[in-house]
Amino acid sequence: MELTEHMDPFEAVNHYFTRAARIADVSASTEAVLKTPYRELRVEVPIRRDNGQLEVYLGYRVQHDNSRGPFKGGIRFHKSAAIEEIRALASLMTWKTALVDLPFGGAKGGIAVDTRPFSANELEHLTRTYVRQISRMIGPTTDIPAPDMYTNAQVMAWFLDEYEQLNGRAPAVVTGKPLALGGSPGRIEATGRGVIIALGETIRGLGWSPDGTTIAIQGFGNVGSWAAQLAHRAGYKVVAVSDSEVCVYCGGGIDIDSLAEHRAANGSLKGFSGTELLEPDDVLMLPVDVLIPAALGEVIHAENEGEVLAEVIVEGANHPVTPWADAALADRGVTVVPDILANAGGVTVSYFEWVQNMQHFRWTEAQVNDRLTQRLVDAHQHVMKVVEDRGCTLREAAFVIAVERVAEASALRGML
Ligand code: GLU
Repeated sequence: MELTEHMDPFEAVNHYFTRAARIADVSASTEAVLKTPYRELRVEVPIRRDNGQLEVYLGYRVQHDNSRGPFKGGIRFHKSAAIEEIRALASLMTWKTALVDLPFGGAKGGIAVDTRPFSANELEHLTRTYVRQISRMIGPTTDIPAPDMYTNAQVMAWFLDEYEQLNGRAPAVVTGKPLALGGSPGRIEATGRGVIIALGETIRGLGWSPDGTTIAIQGFGNVGSWAAQLAHRAGYKVVAVSDSEVCVYCGGGIDIDSLAEHRAANGSLKGFSGTELLEPDDVLMLPVDVLIPAALGEVIHAENEGEVLAEVIVEGANHPVTPWADAALADRGVTVVPDILANAGGVTVSYFEWVQNMQHFRWTEAQVNDRLTQRLVDAHQHVMKVVEDRGCTLREAAFVIAVERVAEASALRGML
Protein backbone atom coordinates (compact mmCIF):
# COMPACT_ATOMS: atom_id res chain seq x y z
CA MET A 1 0.00 0.00 0.00
CA GLU A 2 1.30 3.41 -0.99
CA LEU A 3 2.24 5.69 1.87
CA THR A 4 0.09 8.83 1.88
CA GLU A 5 -0.73 11.19 4.70
CA HIS A 6 -4.47 10.68 4.28
CA MET A 7 -5.15 7.07 5.14
CA ASP A 8 -8.14 6.00 7.20
CA PRO A 9 -6.99 4.55 10.54
CA PHE A 10 -7.61 0.94 9.45
CA GLU A 11 -5.54 1.50 6.29
CA ALA A 12 -2.83 3.00 8.49
CA VAL A 13 -2.64 -0.06 10.77
CA ASN A 14 -2.71 -2.28 7.69
CA HIS A 15 0.20 -0.35 6.25
CA TYR A 16 2.28 -1.59 9.22
CA PHE A 17 0.70 -5.04 9.04
CA THR A 18 1.46 -5.43 5.31
CA ARG A 19 5.11 -4.48 5.74
CA ALA A 20 5.43 -6.99 8.57
CA ALA A 21 3.64 -9.68 6.57
CA ARG A 22 6.16 -9.20 3.73
CA ILE A 23 9.13 -9.39 6.14
CA ALA A 24 7.58 -12.48 7.78
CA ASP A 25 7.07 -14.03 4.34
CA VAL A 26 3.33 -14.46 4.75
CA SER A 27 1.51 -15.37 1.50
CA ALA A 28 -0.88 -12.89 -0.13
CA SER A 29 -3.92 -15.06 0.64
CA THR A 30 -2.88 -15.43 4.30
CA GLU A 31 -2.37 -11.69 4.41
CA ALA A 32 -5.94 -11.09 3.20
CA VAL A 33 -7.40 -13.45 5.82
CA LEU A 34 -5.40 -11.94 8.69
CA LYS A 35 -6.27 -8.40 7.66
CA THR A 36 -10.02 -8.82 7.38
CA PRO A 37 -12.10 -8.40 10.57
CA TYR A 38 -14.02 -11.51 11.63
CA ARG A 39 -17.28 -9.76 12.54
CA GLU A 40 -18.60 -6.21 12.94
CA LEU A 41 -21.77 -5.14 14.70
CA ARG A 42 -23.36 -1.71 14.54
CA VAL A 43 -26.18 -0.99 16.97
CA GLU A 44 -28.60 1.78 17.83
CA VAL A 45 -28.12 3.17 21.34
CA PRO A 46 -31.11 5.34 22.28
CA ILE A 47 -31.05 7.23 25.56
CA ARG A 48 -33.61 9.38 27.34
CA ARG A 49 -31.74 12.31 28.88
CA ASP A 50 -32.65 13.49 32.38
CA ASN A 51 -34.59 16.39 30.81
CA GLY A 52 -36.88 13.93 28.99
CA GLN A 53 -35.30 14.37 25.56
CA LEU A 54 -34.63 11.22 23.51
CA GLU A 55 -31.25 10.97 21.76
CA VAL A 56 -29.89 8.19 19.56
CA TYR A 57 -26.23 7.27 19.16
CA LEU A 58 -24.44 4.59 17.16
CA GLY A 59 -22.52 1.87 18.96
CA TYR A 60 -20.10 -0.71 17.55
CA ARG A 61 -18.26 -3.88 18.41
CA VAL A 62 -15.65 -5.13 15.97
CA GLN A 63 -14.09 -8.56 16.43
CA HIS A 64 -10.90 -8.71 14.42
CA ASP A 65 -9.22 -12.06 15.06
CA ASN A 66 -9.60 -14.93 17.56
CA SER A 67 -7.16 -17.54 16.34
CA ARG A 68 -5.04 -17.22 19.53
CA GLY A 69 -7.93 -16.95 22.02
CA PRO A 70 -11.12 -15.02 22.82
CA PHE A 71 -11.52 -11.57 21.30
CA LYS A 72 -10.26 -8.89 23.71
CA GLY A 73 -10.34 -5.12 23.72
CA GLY A 74 -11.77 -1.98 25.25
CA ILE A 75 -14.92 0.09 24.81
CA ARG A 76 -14.63 3.84 24.19
CA PHE A 77 -17.25 6.54 24.48
CA HIS A 78 -15.97 9.27 22.18
CA LYS A 79 -17.21 11.33 19.24
CA SER A 80 -14.43 9.89 17.06
CA ALA A 81 -15.63 6.30 17.61
CA ALA A 82 -16.63 5.75 13.96
CA ILE A 83 -16.47 2.29 12.40
CA GLU A 84 -13.11 2.89 10.64
CA GLU A 85 -11.56 3.95 13.94
CA ILE A 86 -12.99 1.01 15.90
CA ARG A 87 -11.94 -1.42 13.17
CA ALA A 88 -8.39 -0.05 13.28
CA LEU A 89 -8.26 -0.29 17.07
CA ALA A 90 -9.64 -3.85 16.99
CA SER A 91 -6.86 -4.91 14.63
CA LEU A 92 -4.27 -3.19 16.83
CA MET A 93 -5.55 -5.32 19.74
CA THR A 94 -4.91 -8.49 17.70
CA TRP A 95 -1.29 -7.48 17.17
CA LYS A 96 -0.90 -6.20 20.76
CA THR A 97 -2.14 -9.36 22.48
CA ALA A 98 -0.01 -11.49 20.14
CA LEU A 99 3.11 -9.40 20.77
CA VAL A 100 2.89 -9.81 24.57
CA ASP A 101 1.84 -13.43 24.05
CA LEU A 102 -1.53 -13.28 25.78
CA PRO A 103 -3.98 -16.07 24.82
CA PHE A 104 -6.39 -13.55 23.31
CA GLY A 105 -7.37 -12.12 19.96
CA GLY A 106 -8.37 -8.55 19.17
CA ALA A 107 -11.59 -6.55 19.35
CA LYS A 108 -12.77 -3.04 20.09
CA GLY A 109 -16.07 -1.35 20.73
CA GLY A 110 -17.51 2.03 21.37
CA ILE A 111 -20.27 4.55 21.07
CA ALA A 112 -19.84 7.73 19.00
CA VAL A 113 -20.91 10.09 21.77
CA ASP A 114 -19.49 12.87 23.92
CA THR A 115 -20.51 11.76 27.42
CA ARG A 116 -18.89 14.68 29.23
CA PRO A 117 -22.20 16.53 29.72
CA PHE A 118 -23.96 13.31 30.85
CA SER A 119 -25.09 12.75 34.46
CA ALA A 120 -24.11 9.48 36.19
CA ASN A 121 -27.69 8.29 35.62
CA GLU A 122 -27.48 8.99 31.88
CA LEU A 123 -24.08 7.31 31.60
CA GLU A 124 -25.42 4.22 33.38
CA HIS A 125 -28.42 3.99 31.03
CA LEU A 126 -26.28 4.48 27.95
CA THR A 127 -23.93 1.71 29.12
CA ARG A 128 -26.74 -0.73 29.95
CA THR A 129 -28.48 -0.17 26.60
CA TYR A 130 -25.23 -0.76 24.73
CA VAL A 131 -24.60 -3.99 26.71
CA ARG A 132 -28.08 -5.30 25.85
CA GLN A 133 -27.42 -4.51 22.19
CA ILE A 134 -24.10 -6.39 22.01
CA SER A 135 -24.65 -9.04 24.71
CA ARG A 136 -25.13 -11.96 22.33
CA MET A 137 -21.74 -11.27 20.80
CA ILE A 138 -19.67 -11.23 24.01
CA GLY A 139 -18.91 -13.68 26.84
CA PRO A 140 -16.09 -14.81 29.16
CA THR A 141 -14.72 -17.26 26.58
CA THR A 142 -15.75 -15.44 23.40
CA ASP A 143 -15.17 -11.69 23.68
CA ILE A 144 -14.09 -9.75 26.77
CA PRO A 145 -14.45 -5.93 26.78
CA ALA A 146 -12.54 -3.50 29.03
CA PRO A 147 -12.18 0.26 29.62
CA ASP A 148 -10.78 2.66 27.04
CA MET A 149 -11.24 6.41 26.42
CA TYR A 150 -13.98 7.93 28.62
CA THR A 151 -14.94 4.59 30.17
CA ASN A 152 -13.74 3.46 33.60
CA ALA A 153 -14.21 0.90 36.40
CA GLN A 154 -17.72 2.21 37.21
CA VAL A 155 -18.79 1.81 33.58
CA MET A 156 -17.39 -1.75 33.67
CA ALA A 157 -19.41 -2.41 36.88
CA TRP A 158 -22.67 -1.41 35.12
CA PHE A 159 -21.52 -3.43 32.10
CA LEU A 160 -21.01 -6.53 34.26
CA ASP A 161 -24.30 -6.12 36.09
CA GLU A 162 -26.36 -5.74 32.92
CA TYR A 163 -24.65 -8.72 31.29
CA GLU A 164 -25.18 -10.87 34.40
CA GLN A 165 -28.85 -9.93 34.61
CA LEU A 166 -29.25 -11.35 31.13
CA ASN A 167 -26.90 -14.33 31.36
CA GLY A 168 -26.23 -15.22 35.03
CA ARG A 169 -22.98 -14.88 36.97
CA ALA A 170 -19.98 -14.21 34.71
CA PRO A 171 -17.32 -12.00 36.34
CA ALA A 172 -14.80 -12.75 33.57
CA VAL A 173 -16.99 -11.20 30.84
CA VAL A 174 -15.36 -7.81 31.30
CA THR A 175 -12.07 -6.57 32.79
CA GLY A 176 -11.06 -3.30 34.41
CA LYS A 177 -13.80 -3.81 37.01
CA PRO A 178 -13.72 -2.28 40.51
CA LEU A 179 -11.89 -4.48 43.05
CA ALA A 180 -15.15 -5.18 44.90
CA LEU A 181 -16.59 -6.85 41.78
CA GLY A 182 -13.60 -9.02 40.90
CA GLY A 183 -11.25 -6.40 39.51
CA SER A 184 -7.50 -6.91 39.80
CA PRO A 185 -5.12 -5.00 42.03
CA GLY A 186 -2.92 -2.87 39.79
CA ARG A 187 -5.32 -2.70 36.81
CA ILE A 188 -6.07 1.04 37.00
CA GLU A 189 -2.42 2.10 36.78
CA ALA A 190 -1.37 -0.84 34.54
CA THR A 191 -1.25 0.99 31.19
CA GLY A 192 0.75 3.89 32.66
CA ARG A 193 3.02 1.42 34.47
CA GLY A 194 3.63 -0.42 31.21
CA VAL A 195 4.52 2.84 29.47
CA ILE A 196 7.18 3.53 32.10
CA ILE A 197 8.50 -0.05 31.91
CA ALA A 198 8.86 0.40 28.11
CA LEU A 199 10.57 3.74 28.68
CA GLY A 200 12.95 2.16 31.23
CA GLU A 201 13.97 -0.57 28.79
CA THR A 202 14.45 1.99 26.00
CA ILE A 203 16.67 4.39 27.94
CA ARG A 204 18.67 1.48 29.32
CA GLY A 205 19.46 0.56 25.71
CA LEU A 206 20.49 4.14 25.00
CA GLY A 207 22.71 4.34 28.09
CA TRP A 208 20.61 7.15 29.63
CA SER A 209 19.59 7.39 33.30
CA PRO A 210 16.14 8.43 34.62
CA ASP A 211 17.41 11.47 36.53
CA GLY A 212 19.06 12.90 33.41
CA THR A 213 15.98 12.33 31.22
CA THR A 214 13.32 15.00 30.62
CA ILE A 215 9.78 14.03 29.62
CA ALA A 216 6.69 15.76 28.20
CA ILE A 217 3.36 13.92 28.44
CA GLN A 218 0.30 14.67 26.33
CA GLY A 219 -2.88 13.71 28.19
CA PHE A 220 -3.68 13.50 31.87
CA GLY A 221 -6.37 10.82 31.74
CA ASN A 222 -5.88 7.31 33.07
CA VAL A 223 -2.81 6.55 30.94
CA GLY A 224 -1.08 9.96 31.05
CA SER A 225 -1.65 10.71 34.72
CA TRP A 226 -0.31 7.32 35.85
CA ALA A 227 2.61 7.44 33.44
CA ALA A 228 3.45 10.91 34.80
CA GLN A 229 3.21 9.86 38.44
CA LEU A 230 5.19 6.66 37.98
CA ALA A 231 7.86 8.46 35.92
CA HIS A 232 8.17 11.14 38.60
CA ARG A 233 8.47 8.52 41.37
CA ALA A 234 11.11 6.64 39.30
CA GLY A 235 13.26 9.79 39.24
CA TYR A 236 12.61 11.10 35.72
CA LYS A 237 12.21 14.84 35.26
CA VAL A 238 8.64 15.38 33.97
CA VAL A 239 8.78 18.95 32.67
CA ALA A 240 5.39 19.23 30.94
CA VAL A 241 1.95 17.65 30.97
CA SER A 242 -1.16 18.65 29.05
CA ASP A 243 -4.86 17.93 28.84
CA SER A 244 -7.45 19.12 26.30
CA GLU A 245 -7.46 22.62 27.89
CA VAL A 246 -3.84 23.51 28.60
CA CYS A 247 -0.21 22.45 28.85
CA VAL A 248 1.72 23.17 32.07
CA TYR A 249 5.49 23.47 31.79
CA CYS A 250 8.39 23.85 34.21
CA GLY A 251 11.92 23.32 32.88
CA GLY A 252 13.16 22.27 36.32
CA GLY A 253 10.59 19.45 36.60
CA ILE A 254 7.05 19.25 38.01
CA ASP A 255 6.07 17.57 41.30
CA ILE A 256 3.50 15.30 39.64
CA ASP A 257 1.95 13.93 42.85
CA SER A 258 1.09 17.49 43.92
CA LEU A 259 -0.12 18.32 40.39
CA ALA A 260 -2.45 15.28 40.45
CA GLU A 261 -3.85 16.46 43.83
CA HIS A 262 -4.26 19.96 42.41
CA ARG A 263 -6.17 18.65 39.39
CA ALA A 264 -8.38 16.42 41.53
CA ALA A 265 -9.23 19.39 43.79
CA ASN A 266 -9.69 22.03 41.04
CA GLY A 267 -10.73 19.98 38.01
CA SER A 268 -7.96 21.67 35.96
CA LEU A 269 -4.20 21.69 35.53
CA LYS A 270 -4.34 25.51 35.48
CA GLY A 271 -3.21 27.45 38.53
CA PHE A 272 -0.52 25.01 39.70
CA SER A 273 2.24 27.11 41.19
CA GLY A 274 5.64 27.28 39.53
CA THR A 275 4.41 26.23 36.07
CA GLU A 276 4.09 28.21 32.87
CA LEU A 277 0.82 27.89 30.88
CA LEU A 278 1.14 26.89 27.21
CA GLU A 279 -1.34 25.83 24.52
CA PRO A 280 -2.28 22.11 24.72
CA ASP A 281 -0.51 21.16 21.46
CA ASP A 282 2.72 22.88 22.53
CA VAL A 283 3.42 19.77 24.59
CA LEU A 284 4.44 17.97 21.39
CA MET A 285 7.14 20.48 20.45
CA LEU A 286 9.08 21.08 23.65
CA PRO A 287 12.86 20.59 23.96
CA VAL A 288 12.67 17.28 25.86
CA ASP A 289 14.38 13.90 25.60
CA VAL A 290 11.15 11.89 25.66
CA LEU A 291 7.64 12.60 24.43
CA ILE A 292 4.74 10.43 25.61
CA PRO A 293 1.56 11.02 23.59
CA ALA A 294 -1.10 9.52 25.87
CA ALA A 295 -4.35 11.02 24.59
CA LEU A 296 -5.88 10.85 21.10
CA GLY A 297 -4.81 9.11 17.89
CA GLU A 298 -3.00 10.78 14.95
CA VAL A 299 -1.64 13.74 16.94
CA ILE A 300 1.79 13.60 15.26
CA HIS A 301 1.33 13.97 11.51
CA ALA A 302 2.91 15.43 8.35
CA GLU A 303 2.29 19.05 9.40
CA ASN A 304 3.87 18.93 12.86
CA GLU A 305 6.30 16.00 12.74
CA GLY A 306 9.26 18.27 11.91
CA GLU A 307 8.67 20.30 15.07
CA VAL A 308 8.95 17.33 17.42
CA LEU A 309 12.26 17.74 19.24
CA ALA A 310 12.22 14.61 21.41
CA GLU A 311 14.68 11.82 20.59
CA VAL A 312 12.36 9.14 21.96
CA ILE A 313 8.57 8.84 21.57
CA VAL A 314 6.73 6.29 23.72
CA GLU A 315 3.21 5.73 22.41
CA GLY A 316 0.92 5.66 25.45
CA ALA A 317 -2.12 6.28 23.22
CA ASN A 318 -3.21 3.98 20.42
CA HIS A 319 -2.03 5.13 16.97
CA PRO A 320 -0.81 8.64 17.96
CA VAL A 321 1.63 8.87 15.00
CA THR A 322 0.47 8.68 11.35
CA PRO A 323 2.43 6.28 9.09
CA TRP A 324 3.77 9.25 7.14
CA ALA A 325 5.12 10.90 10.30
CA ASP A 326 6.38 7.52 11.52
CA ALA A 327 8.53 7.13 8.39
CA ALA A 328 9.84 10.71 8.70
CA LEU A 329 10.71 10.20 12.38
CA ALA A 330 12.54 6.97 11.57
CA ASP A 331 14.49 8.76 8.81
CA ARG A 332 15.82 11.31 11.25
CA GLY A 333 16.72 8.73 13.88
CA VAL A 334 13.93 9.29 16.41
CA THR A 335 13.19 6.12 18.39
CA VAL A 336 9.44 5.40 18.45
CA VAL A 337 8.30 2.75 20.94
CA PRO A 338 5.09 1.55 19.23
CA ASP A 339 1.66 1.50 20.88
CA ILE A 340 1.31 -2.29 20.69
CA LEU A 341 4.37 -2.59 22.94
CA ALA A 342 4.29 0.66 24.94
CA ASN A 343 0.64 0.56 26.04
CA ALA A 344 0.23 -3.21 26.35
CA GLY A 345 0.33 -3.02 30.18
CA GLY A 346 -3.43 -2.43 30.36
CA VAL A 347 -4.49 -5.52 28.44
CA THR A 348 -1.78 -7.57 30.17
CA VAL A 349 -3.30 -6.86 33.59
CA SER A 350 -6.75 -7.37 32.03
CA TYR A 351 -5.51 -10.86 31.22
CA PHE A 352 -4.39 -11.33 34.84
CA GLU A 353 -7.81 -10.13 36.00
CA TRP A 354 -9.54 -12.61 33.67
CA VAL A 355 -7.30 -15.45 34.91
CA GLN A 356 -8.12 -14.57 38.53
CA ASN A 357 -11.87 -14.48 37.73
CA MET A 358 -11.73 -17.84 35.91
CA GLN A 359 -9.93 -19.35 38.93
CA HIS A 360 -12.02 -17.51 41.56
CA PHE A 361 -8.74 -16.42 43.12
CA ARG A 362 -7.12 -13.08 43.99
CA TRP A 363 -3.45 -12.19 43.45
CA THR A 364 -1.61 -9.53 45.44
CA GLU A 365 -0.67 -6.21 43.86
CA ALA A 366 3.01 -7.17 44.08
CA GLN A 367 2.34 -10.41 42.16
CA VAL A 368 0.45 -8.49 39.47
CA ASN A 369 3.15 -5.84 39.09
CA ASP A 370 6.00 -8.39 39.05
CA ARG A 371 4.29 -10.49 36.39
CA LEU A 372 3.46 -7.39 34.36
CA THR A 373 7.08 -6.23 34.45
CA GLN A 374 8.35 -9.67 33.47
CA ARG A 375 6.03 -9.96 30.46
CA LEU A 376 6.70 -6.47 29.16
CA VAL A 377 10.47 -6.72 29.63
CA ASP A 378 10.46 -10.08 27.79
CA ALA A 379 8.41 -8.57 24.94
CA HIS A 380 10.71 -5.55 24.76
CA GLN A 381 13.84 -7.70 24.63
CA HIS A 382 12.30 -9.85 21.92
CA VAL A 383 11.50 -6.73 19.88
CA MET A 384 15.06 -5.41 20.32
CA LYS A 385 16.47 -8.75 19.18
CA VAL A 386 14.43 -8.56 15.95
CA VAL A 387 15.49 -4.90 15.50
CA GLU A 388 19.12 -6.02 15.66
CA ASP A 389 18.69 -9.12 13.49
CA ARG A 390 16.72 -7.40 10.73
CA GLY A 391 17.90 -3.81 11.02
CA CYS A 392 14.32 -2.55 11.22
CA THR A 393 12.40 -0.13 13.45
CA LEU A 394 10.82 -1.15 16.77
CA ARG A 395 7.38 -0.91 15.18
CA GLU A 396 8.33 -3.16 12.28
CA ALA A 397 9.88 -5.66 14.70
CA ALA A 398 6.83 -5.62 16.98
CA PHE A 399 4.46 -6.22 14.04
CA VAL A 400 6.66 -9.00 12.63
CA ILE A 401 6.57 -10.90 15.95
CA ALA A 402 2.81 -10.41 16.26
CA VAL A 403 1.98 -11.30 12.66
CA GLU A 404 4.12 -14.46 12.77
CA ARG A 405 2.30 -15.63 15.93
CA VAL A 406 -1.20 -14.99 14.54
CA ALA A 407 -0.30 -16.55 11.18
CA GLU A 408 1.02 -19.67 12.92
CA ALA A 409 -2.10 -20.07 15.08
CA SER A 410 -4.39 -19.56 12.08
CA ALA A 411 -2.42 -22.05 9.98
CA LEU A 412 -2.51 -24.68 12.73
CA ARG A 413 -6.29 -24.31 12.91
CA GLY A 414 -6.42 -24.94 9.18
CA MET A 415 -7.86 -21.52 8.44
CA LEU A 416 -5.15 -20.58 5.96
N1 GLU B 1 -8.22 -0.28 26.06
C1 GLU B 1 -6.94 -0.83 26.40
C2 GLU B 1 -6.07 -0.97 25.17
O1 GLU B 1 -6.26 -0.30 24.18
C3 GLU B 1 -7.06 -2.10 27.22
C4 GLU B 1 -7.81 -3.21 26.55
C5 GLU B 1 -8.11 -4.39 27.48
O2 GLU B 1 -7.71 -4.35 28.63
O3 GLU B 1 -8.76 -5.33 26.99
O4 GLU B 1 -5.12 -1.71 25.16
